[in-house]
Amino acid sequence: MSNTELSRMKQPLVPLATLIGRDLRNLKIEKPIVKYGQAGLARKGEDYFLIKTDCQRIPGDSSTLFSVFAILDGHNGMSAAVFAKENILSNVTSAIPQDISRDEWLQALPRALVVGFVKTDIEFQKKGETSGTTATFVIIDGWTVTVASVGDSRCILDTQGGVVSLLTVDHRLEENVEERERVTASGGEVGRLNVYGANEVGPLRCWPGGLCLSRSIGDTDVGEYIVPIPHVKQVKLSNAGGRLIIASDGIWDALSSDVAAKSCRGLPAELAAKLVVKEALRSRGLKDDTTCLVVDIIPSDYPVLPIIPRKKYNMLISLFFRKKSQNSSNKASNKLSAVGAVEELFEEGSAVLTERLGKESPFNMNSGIFRCAVCQVDQPPGDGLAVNSGPYFPSASKSWEGPFLCTNCRKKKDAMEGKRLSIPIVDSIVI
Ligand SMILES: [Zn+2]
Repeated sequence: MSNTELSRMKQPLVPLATLIGRDLRNLKIEKPIVKYGQAGLARKGEDYFLIKTDCQRIPGDSSTLFSVFAILDGHNGMSAAVFAKENILSNVTSAIPQDISRDEWLQALPRALVVGFVKTDIEFQKKGETSGTTATFVIIDGWTVTVASVGDSRCILDTQGGVVSLLTVDHRLEENVEERERVTASGGEVGRLNVYGANEVGPLRCWPGGLCLSRSIGDTDVGEYIVPIPHVKQVKLSNAGGRLIIASDGIWDALSSDVAAKSCRGLPAELAAKLVVKEALRSRGLKDDTTCLVVDIIPSDYPVLPIIPRKKYNMLISLFFRKKSQNSSNKASNKLSAVGAVEELFEEGSAVLTERLGKESPFNMNSGIFRCAVCQVDQPPGDGLAVNSGPYFPSASKSWEGPFLCTNCRKKKDAMEGKRLSIPIVDSIVI
């Protein structure tokens, strides 16, 4: 018998009550409490909240609860913001397969969020209205936070005492070179407003239309290269929890992420949201709709989000956002994860739809039915397939290269990539 085996045998038996206690504590760690506060001051009345804390992954099963928080900052009217508020969630959930495990569900979310945003945009465009909206959409399931965003509303994560990080990317033409290049390559013109043909003023905009954003939902009157494809980031918080601040540009034009986080640290979420808005108004005045949601993800043992001692601050910065694959068995990082490190599970911001949908085939082999990867409409084989023939269809000689898209969604995809001719095709030219 080896020494290790001997020492194992010498260990006293753990009483059953202790074991049960451990399980209960683990359960608590498994499900944090979500507390939130909201505040806002309207100037144009085009900012909207979405707060839903009673969503169920499996309808009717209360153990599968998840929460949704979103901010929608409309422009040129409020109808796109209202439409997005009412439709994104159902469009996202309908794109997730039924009867899958929680882990599979979390993994399916990033793709489903892309589908949900694009579907909402297509549906809104059918209404023929010209307004548009940003959408910063946050799904919280346990310690996992998934954020999808188009436009310049922002979601930051504060681990209370140390690191403040951005979970979104600003889709503003002025600040995003990559997006500027994409819009220009797809046929858009980017430039500043020209006053009296002389001075250029204000931020970079896309013409025609004059929008400052490179991505949004709606904006039917602007080119299709202003896409609704969100940047998606998924992180897993440590069991120390964290605070999310989701807000429209009325806040972020006045406050940096750090200042916003610091201004309300240690306060309950409801008060925190009010303070962030107050701070923004104090520094800039009410120039725009100014809307803020504060969401605390709290280990259930704590009444408020605990503040991490200052001492550990520097150590956290270097190891914050460690990748899942890196050294998860490393003892030092495990220790850090207990005080606030965040695991990065997923991040993707490409504006190319097919890159975001992946290669998974939605073709149901048993029924022989094609389901559109975006609008989820079923199409029996032979029905309209000739119109869609191309790389999106399997054939005997070709392997599967992408998901099936119906005629409508295929058109949308091409238009977003700038492939649709802006001049209407004329069948015959009369001279
Ligand atoms: Zn479709």
